Amino acid sequence: MPSLRRSMTVALLGLALTPAVQAWGALGHSIVADLAQRHLSPTAEAEVERLLAPEHTKSLADIASWADEIRNDPAQNALWKQTRALHYVDFTAGDCSYTPPRDCKDGQCVVAGIDHYVQVLGDKTQPDAKRLEALKFVVHFIGDEHQPLHGGSRDDKGGNAYQVQFNDKGTNLHSVWDSGMLKTHGLEWKPYADELEARGPVTLPAPIPPFDNAYAQWAEESCVVSRDIYPNGHNIDQAYVDKELPVAELRLREAGRRLAEVLNLALSR
Ligand SMILES: [Zn+2]
Repeated sequence: MPSLRRSMTVALLGLALTPAVQAWGALGHSIVADLAQRHLSPTAEAEVERLLAPEHTKSLADIASWADEIRNDPAQNALWKQTRALHYVDFTAGDCSYTPPRDCKDGQCVVAGIDHYVQVLGDKTQPDAKRLEALKFVVHFIGDEHQPLHGGSRDDKGGNAYQVQFNDKGTNLHSVWDSGMLKTHGLEWKPYADELEARGPVTLPAPIPPFDNAYAQWAEESCVVSRDIYPNGHNIDQAYVDKELPVAELRLREAGRRLAEVLNLALSR
């Protein structure tokens, strides 16, 4: 549905122009989903609840990590293999400019993944089961795309190959950003989302030229952020957490806000 895609891109860019009044681990994904659900239109909320009914939940937070969980489900092995590359994008240019043939060959990256599943979600000619699956992917991938290391430009597998010491244990930078740093806050996803929501409406980053692909811009933002989050050396200390946790939390809030707008548009008709 190209016309839906075009109108959504225009609408999303409009939103971005207006100052707004391992993915992450399960904690981060649930926070993004919950922040988004608080800002659904009544129409979108009703459609989300209808699509989620077979999952026996009304909460987007409950399905936000499904796209990662299928990795460990033998029955979903084919779907995992088909979608595993859609959780991230590796920028090959240090300037973080998104060029699809280079950075998203054959549509195998998070930018194309979001685009595809938003179209399926918004297409009422698709069976509900397909649209539910699309909803689960959209909720997850928009979260992932805002994790800075899911849009990295270094040749280190999004920080997975950058070893660090954190809380006296060996791990890697990607894992610290997926979940390690968020966990230091000591809250479950619901009270954590409450706390972030209480900070008020998030001001979204200004559009980056050429303004024609909001999903690409969100990945480019992650890429730019990712360049500044490598520690000096390989030790993650409290000073690092004090500096970078607010960056991670801002990305969660931006993801939640944008996810709400995407769902409101896709489910508005
Ligand atoms: Zn993921």
